[in-house]
Amino acid sequence: MSKNLKWAVIFLAAMLLSLGVIIFGQFSHGTVSAEIYVDGKLYSVVNDLDRQEMRTFTVQTEYGSNTVCYKAGKIWVSEADCENHTCEKYGKASLAGETIVCAPHRLVIRIVSTSYKKADVTV
Ligand SMILES: [Zn+2]
Repeated sequence: MSKNLKWAVIFLAAMLLSLGVIIFGQFSHGTVSAEIYVDGKLYSVVNDLDRQEMRTFTVQTEYGSNTVCYKAGKIWVSEADCENHTCEKYGKASLAGETIVCAPHRLVIRIVSTSYKKADVTV
């Protein structure tokens, strides 16, 4: 094998590898959703977390209200009438397992991956 051909093969292999990473990355990115819990009970599930236009909804409970926004795989609390505003300050959550907590309102927003959820449902 000539030196040039050898490098061409290595280059091609590296290209294919990075392409695979990109495709797999997009695929795994598309499987996240968010679960919203109030008082330890499932309040709502956001299945279209990946949508490109921002969507906003309000979680109104006896403890108070939190305005939640999500877009492009990220979810965050934009407004809350709680005392410490920790939930607002947290910023955007996008990774599976990431959790936004509003302790005064007993609100938990948790990012879950669909594959993890499937395992959960079969129990
Ligand atoms: Zn809060």
